[in-house]
Amino acid sequence: MRKLLTVVIAIMLVFALSGCESNIENVVAANEEITGEEVEPEEKLSIITSLYPQYDFTRSIVGDKADVILILPPGVESHSFEPTPQDMVMLQNSDLFLYTGKEMEPWAYRLTGSINATIVDLSEGIELMDLDAHEDEDEHDDELMDPHIWTDPNLAIVMVDNILSSLKEIDEKNAEYYEENANTLKKALMDLDLEIRETLSKTTSKTILSGGHFAFGYFVERYGLEHMSPYEGFSPDAEPTPRRIAALIETIKETDARAIFYEELIDPKVSRVISEETGIEMLLLHGAHNVTKEEFEAGKSYITFMKENLERLKIGLGYDE
Ligand SMILES: [Zn+2]
Repeated sequence: MRKLLTVVIAIMLVFALSGCESNIENVVAANEEITGEEVEPEEKLSIITSLYPQYDFTRSIVGDKADVILILPPGVESHSFEPTPQDMVMLQNSDLFLYTGKEMEPWAYRLTGSINATIVDLSEGIELMDLDAHEDEDEHDDELMDPHIWTDPNLAIVMVDNILSSLKEIDEKNAEYYEENANTLKKALMDLDLEIRETLSKTTSKTILSGGHFAFGYFVERYGLEHMSPYEGFSPDAEPTPRRIAALIETIKETDARAIFYEELIDPKVSRVISEETGIEMLLLHGAHNVTKEEFEAGKSYITFMKENLERLKIGLGYDE
């Protein structure tokens, strides 16, 4: 009797197990079908950008065809930025990495050849200016070139062309779409150039007095302006020289200067001292290297920053309608 019961239980177990097995097989098969369908749509291109101007330009060109990421966290000063290990993983897994140039992001230049992503130097085809091109000072550092090419909208157009070529290369089938968007953007940059030209031709003063590291070298070169800054180089870590601060204060007192311009994302200590010493107004000249969290969330464009700068330049340099 006991033996029979054992056999029955054994037979039932075999049935139960085989039933289970076929159920499991069905579930696995069903899952494969579902995941197979999910893999079907193409994955979006992943593009990483180092600074805000190329982040903004690239997103206008790619529309919804790619994910564009700005590697700088909001509010972080760009010259002293170094990527984290997580950033490195993200770069490694991206399709395209766009940076300004060797002088602006030395860390990016060092990545060339060591990650799988296509790396593009957006200053390609642009002749860099010596940092002291605008200065009559005797102190020179021949090694340093000015990396702030984007402050001249005409050079920003060259950057846009470089972004466009790299996109066409990695994503040929959307080339026409990219080209159309890039043309719209270039037209807007040309209009910006015209507006700046017209406005600056009517300002009373042609000298931008800056209390910060001066990012607008290409801008003043393009539009026939001059600038004075207590900083010798462009690095925000650099110390202003007392002689230059004194010269700046002297100039302000001798002329009818109306404002001292300060830069974004850095405590404007020097500008504040000069403003207090001379009584002139402090105005922001936004270099758009990077943006605050609020500016990022508002999606402010490079062109918006430049137009706002132009309004403040009208105040600071004096403007006759
Ligand atoms: Zn800078």
